[in-house]
Amino acid sequence: MERFDVLVAGAGPAGAAAAMHLARGGARVLLADRARFPRDKPCGGGLTGRALLHVPCDVSSVVEHVVDGFVLRAGYRSRVVRRSETPVILMTQRRRLDAFLAEQATSAGAEFRDGAAVTEIVCEADRVTASVGGARIEASYLVGADGANGVVARSTLLGNDIQLGVALEGNVSWREFDPAPYRGTAWVELGVVPGGYGWVFPKGDHANLGVGGWLDEGPRLRFHLAKLAREHGVDPEELTSVRGHRLPMRRLGSSAARGRVLLVGDAAGLVDPLSGDGIYEAFVSARLAADAVLAGRPEEYETALASALDRHAAASWKAKRVADRFPRACLWAVRAPGVFDAVAGLLRGDLAHPSEARRIARPPLKVLSRLARIAPPVR
Ligand SMILES: Cc1cc2nc3c(=O)[nH]c(=O)nc-3n(C[C@H](O)[C@H](O)[C@H](O)COP(=O)(O)OP(=O)(O)OC[C@H]3O[C@@H](n4cnc5c(N)ncnc54)[C@H](O)[C@@H]3O)c2cc1C
Repeated sequence: MERFDVLVAGAGPAGAAAAMHLARGGARVLLADRARFPRDKPCGGGLTGRALLHVPCDVSSVVEHVVDGFVLRAGYRSRVVRRSETPVILMTQRRRLDAFLAEQATSAGAEFRDGAAVTEIVCEADRVTASVGGARIEASYLVGADGANGVVARSTLLGNDIQLGVALEGNVSWREFDPAPYRGTAWVELGVVPGGYGWVFPKGDHANLGVGGWLDEGPRLRFHLAKLAREHGVDPEELTSVRGHRLPMRRLGSSAARGRVLLVGDAAGLVDPLSGDGIYEAFVSARLAADAVLAGRPEEYETALASALDRHAAASWKAKRVADRFPRACLWAVRAPGVFDAVAGLLRGDLAHPSEARRIARPPLKVLSRLARIAPPVR
C-alpha cells in the first residue's frame, strides 16, 4: 500500500488549490482525478476579482477576456448598462484553467494522477484508505474536492444539507455572432429562469451562453437556453458543446468535515446561491482546509469556513429570494446610485463584507431587504 500525508480527491480548482497549498507547506500529497486531463467542466469560466484574490498562482496565461461592463435585463427587456473602472471578472475556459492549476500543483510538489477515480473510501480514527485508479492508498487526511456529484461526501455521510440547482450552457463562435455588444461585457438576464438567470459571457474566440435555476427546472433548461440564444440573435442549432451540471448550495451551518475528511468547493456545496459562481469559494475553502491539515487541527476547518463564507452566503440566499420573485425591482435597484458599485465591489473583493455594501447603497438595499421579507422562502 502506498502512503501519503494527504489524498486529494478531484483536481478542479478546489482540489488543485488544496494540493498546491499542502505541497508548499511540506505535505506529501496525492492529487487524483477520475477524468483524463485536459478535461472540460460545464462552467461559465468567470474568475471574479474576489476569486483572484485567493488564487494560489498566477493564472494570467489562461485568461481570454477581461470584463468590466454589465448589461442587466429583466425578462429580456428594460436593460441597465453599467461599467466598472477596474476589471470585475476575468474569463477563462475550464479545460485550460484546470489543466494549468493541476500542472502548478505538480510543480509545487504534489503527485498528480489523472484517469484515477477515488473509490472504496474507509475512514478510521488515525487514517483514511481508498482505492485510487485501482491502487490502494493510505493517507493521514482525505480532502474531498470531487465536486457536485462526488463520492467523498456520500461515503462520509456529509452533504445532506445541500440544495441543488442546475445549469446548462453552450458556446457560439464569433464567426456566427457579432462580438461588438459583448466586448468586455457580461450580459445577465434576470427573471427568465426560476431560481437563477441567463448569461452571455465573452471568451477568446467564442461566447458562452448559459441558463441556471432550481433543480426541478432541469427538464426545461434546453427550452430556456434556446430562448436565450434566440433573444441574442443566435440560432440554438449553432450552439456547440451544450452540457449541464449541478450547482450545489449548502444551508448555513451544515457540516463540511468529519474526522480526517475535509470537503472543499462544490463537494461541500459552496456555490454562491445568487451568482452561481463557486471558484472563489473553491479557492477559499482549499486554503482553509490546507491550513487546518498542515496545523494538524482538522476540527478547526468548519469554524474557519463559516467565518469566511457564511455572511456572504446568508446575504446571497436573501438576495436570491428577491431576484427570483422581483427581478424588475433588482433592475430598479441597479439603476439607483451606489448599488452597482456595491455589487461590483463584492464581486471584485474590494468589499470584504456584505454590510459594507449597505454603507454604499443603503436606501435601495433597504427596499430590497423589505422585499426579501415578503418573498417566499427558497425551495
Ligand atoms: C453551467 C455552470 C456555469 C458556472 N459558471 C461559473 C462561473 O462563471 N464562475 C464561477 O466561479 N463558478 C461557476 N460555476 C460553478 C463552478 O463551476 C464550480 O463551483 C467549480 O467548478 C467548483 O470547483 P471544484 O473544484 O469544487 O469542483 P469541480 O470543478 O466540479 O471538480 C471536481 C473534480 O472532481 C473529479 N471527480 C469526481 N469524482 C471523482 C472521484 N470519485 N475520484 C476522483 N476525481 C473525481 C471530477 O472529474 C472533477 O475534475 C458554474 C457552474 C455551472 C454548472
